[in-house]
Amino acid sequence: MSKYDVIVIGSGIGGLSAALTVARAGKNVLVLEAERQFGGFINPFARKKFWFDTGIHYVGEMGEGRSLYRQFENLGLMDDLKFRELNPQGFDRYVFPDYEIRLGNSIDNFHHQLSVDFPSEQVSLNKFFRRFKEIDRSLRELQRKKDLWSTLCLLPKIPQLLRLKGYTYKQLLDQYFVDPRLKAALSGPGGDIGLPPGRAAALVMIGVIAHFSRGAYYPIGGSKKVRDTYVAHLERNGASLKRRSPVERICLSQGKVTGVETTSGEIYHAPVVISNASALHTLRDMVGYSNLRKKPVDKVKRARYSIGSVCVFVGTSQQPSEFGLDDANVWNYPSYDLDSLYQPVFEGRQMEKMAFFLSVPTLKDPNANHAPQGKHTVELITFAPWKAFESWSGQQVLKRDAEYMKLKNQVGKRLLVAAEKYLPGLEANAEVIEISSPLTNFSFANTPKGSIYGMDHIPNQIGSGRWGIRSPLDGLLFCGADALGGGIAPCVTSGTAAGAEAIKRLK
Ligand SMILES: Cc1cc2nc3c(=O)[nH]c(=O)nc-3n(C[C@H](O)[C@H](O)[C@H](O)COP(=O)(O)OP(=O)(O)OC[C@H]3O[C@@H](n4cnc5c(N)ncnc54)[C@H](O)[C@@H]3O)c2cc1C
Repeated sequence: MSKYDVIVIGSGIGGLSAALTVARAGKNVLVLEAERQFGGFINPFARKKFWFDTGIHYVGEMGEGRSLYRQFENLGLMDDLKFRELNPQGFDRYVFPDYEIRLGNSIDNFHHQLSVDFPSEQVSLNKFFRRFKEIDRSLRELQRKKDLWSTLCLLPKIPQLLRLKGYTYKQLLDQYFVDPRLKAALSGPGGDIGLPPGRAAALVMIGVIAHFSRGAYYPIGGSKKVRDTYVAHLERNGASLKRRSPVERICLSQGKVTGVETTSGEIYHAPVVISNASALHTLRDMVGYSNLRKKPVDKVKRARYSIGSVCVFVGTSQQPSEFGLDDANVWNYPSYDLDSLYQPVFEGRQMEKMAFFLSVPTLKDPNANHAPQGKHTVELITFAPWKAFESWSGQQVLKRDAEYMKLKNQVGKRLLVAAEKYLPGLEANAEVIEISSPLTNFSFANTPKGSIYGMDHIPNQIGSGRWGIRSPLDGLLFCGADALGGGIAPCVTSGTAAGAEAIKRLK
């Protein structure tokens, strides 16, 4: 059959959430995925019996009844998906040259610890966290916006949000604090959007910290379990899913979407198409600028995409707990000046002092089959520029030349050496080492410039500066990182919202 109610382009978690929403409403949905596997950034990979996650290390809002939990529940997934809460005393460690602090499941404890460590800034900390809570409350209310009354109740708070919308996080922190070490400590979670305080939108940083302020969770079975559960539920609900089916073109008739055409020339018809691909790829390549008005074309051309990454995936028989590691993530910052740490990457160079993230999924989920009995997986991530890798983007995946391998291995090696601070002997004891680059993100998830969080979360690219779920074309909707924001939770939200909107348009 080539006629569907809804076609979803791409099977990242946003696309899967959109498709499942549509399928559960009894509508005919087709998911077309370009790659060999479904899942986008939640598609794991295996090497010698070690399973590695790519884009899920932790999520917030998974306590029973909380927002992401409710969304998975509404999608019918919670009978099959289980999440394990990570160390409530501190699931994130922000490690600086001579200071370390953990964020756990209580924002009040974080506030208290900072007050103990920075007594001279106690009054400012009290003011800052009071404002943090007000903003968090307003943002949550705004997201709910169920009825006219709750929207009206919010009106007095909106000017404050609107004013803050244009602020970087640094501008907000500078209003309160003097000590650069304290400002760095409060900026530790910025790695979750790949931005230092001088660039990150203040509202997004508050949103990220708030997202994790009631605890962090890891899916039992890793991203593989999440991906497989979605796919099984889609099939059970009658959805059609096709891999290795890159969409080349969104078909239009008199400005209205009528379906899609794949690179192999198959045409599928539907009155509604939801794109989980980037807005850039969707509008520039699949729709074509000639089919759009000037304003959206300008917006696509202006868009700045987030940073890329080099990841090192290690399978080891070392016991990370013997070195003091637990299920907490480590964010290693070798300087308090986070803007200077990131700056080389923004200029197209590697970080001079390497900031990185370290996670041990086998400690987060000890009973799953991430590794052979008694062994562990360790995942390291550092930020890396597209520009340094761009010249190999035309070469075939897994067949890139020796120069590319040399560069990738050099950065990977630096990362392994830096991680020895936490796991001495990591490289020597490794049974498996796999290294990815921004080109890997580009090749396997088709993200612009190998970006890992979609459009950058800078002040002019949040709220109305992003795309939302509505596109400039009749019959085309968006979901995924460019719609509301990067990260699992915003992508699930945009997916379910796009799915619900598609159903409405079919009526
Ligand atoms: C290293 C890393 C670590 C991360 N860690 C976390 C974390 O711990 N917690 C968290 O919340 N978030 C994390 N993220 C972010 C999170 O994984 C992503 O924001 C999210 O998974 C993106 O989902 P998406 O819906 O935008 O789709 P994507 O995962 O970007 O997938 C898009 C899909 O569309 C497909 N596609 C594109 N073009 C076409 C086409 N023309 N035809 C058909 N298919 C197409 C792609 O192949 C891909 O499968 C991390 C990301 C990375 C890279």
